[in-house]
Amino acid sequence: MNEASLRDRHDAETPPYPVETIRTQFPILARKIRGRPLVYLDNAATTQVPTAVLDAVREFESTTRANIHRGVHTLSQESTDAFERARERLAGFLGLGDQHGLVFTSGTTEALNTVAYGLSAGDGVPASLGPGDEIVVTGLEHHANLIPWQRAARRSGATLRVLVPDTDGRVHLDGLASILGPRTRVFALTACANATGYRPPYETMLRMASEAGALTVLDAAQAVSHETLDLAALACDFMAFSSHKMYGPMGIGGLAGRLAALERLSPLRLGGDMVDWVSLEDAAFAPLPSRLEGGTQNVAGAVGMATAARYIDEIGRPRIDTHVRRLRARAAEGLARIDGIRVLNPDSADSAIVAFIAREVHPHDIGTLLDERGIAVRTGHHCAMPLIERLGGGPTTRASFAAYNTDEEADRLVEAVAAALKVLA
Ligand code: PMP
Repeated sequence: MNEASLRDRHDAETPPYPVETIRTQFPILARKIRGRPLVYLDNAATTQVPTAVLDAVREFESTTRANIHRGVHTLSQESTDAFERARERLAGFLGLGDQHGLVFTSGTTEALNTVAYGLSAGDGVPASLGPGDEIVVTGLEHHANLIPWQRAARRSGATLRVLVPDTDGRVHLDGLASILGPRTRVFALTACANATGYRPPYETMLRMASEAGALTVLDAAQAVSHETLDLAALACDFMAFSSHKMYGPMGIGGLAGRLAALERLSPLRLGGDMVDWVSLEDAAFAPLPSRLEGGTQNVAGAVGMATAARYIDEIGRPRIDTHVRRLRARAAEGLARIDGIRVLNPDSADSAIVAFIAREVHPHDIGTLLDERGIAVRTGHHCAMPLIERLGGGPTTRASFAAYNTDEEADRLVEAVAAALKVLA
């Protein structure tokens, strides 16, 4: 069989991506904004929620809701079961093995703070960081994967070292090799720079850092909705993610990691449910995962997030991944053709995010004109000031794609940006 007929056969066997069906599953997409159909391209900030997730949350809240662990009554037990089932489903979704655990948090920010605090506090568990140690982060990071490490360094006397990206916003393996050393205790990086859509070679970087003896931390916030993250196959000790970026509810997320690494964390939240016993002077922490889950948990959120994981896998992460990357490439190509636009990371089709700078036009004005056409994008520094600084300092406009976006929407973005520049430039 020649190559063309092989391709034909492949095309005939691969069902087309069901974007129209997917769209009907997201009620918010029926909304009009300023009289125009909503074109929602702010998915890197927060994705929308499908009916399956809304139904699961509503079902839990209307039939099962009760506080977990502490009750002997039926609802409390059912609620506990629902919470633990959600944990199991998410463990499968993230490729956790026997030697891994999953702790629920309010999102990526809390997960990263849990790690940075937990390794440096030395409260109940010996601190893993001390004077002379080094923490390595990259200059690509969201503030949530930078500021907690600044404080961890200050608290512990460790030194914070930064793998600085080149002026195109990329980091390089040789740069990492030269910054890793015998005192590197932690290496933290993002799976995708939320400000530019650049995807660093994180698999290799995590392996290099792990081989150098560091604990490794992956901020998976921008990858979890479309990349198949298989934690057992990664040289990764801690991985942070948020539900609201993977079609789930807001206010929930998680910290997945190697049990041996999670054991090294001093708990960030002290209070109910995370202790074995308490006296007036002292307390003994409970085993994992409760030890890191102090206080009343967002059980409905966990149920919703687990349903979102199932929803993603029903479509299939490889298919979503191909779809969002293709839309990113399509938009990037169209935007790059507009006079006066500089697309950041122009040639990459590695992620769902495209960001650009328009010469002499403030992104806020572009975002406002786009909103008049019903198009939602995000403008500013995207909580990544050091990276924006490295790329030239100006705020940017960012569009980001999800499972429900269409080619037509990518084209409407390009047309609307071109029209906005005619008005503004
Ligand atoms: N890291 C990255 C790469 C992000 O994109 C975000 C959210 N923009 C965060 C961390 C923080 O996530 P959350 O606000 O859900 O805690």
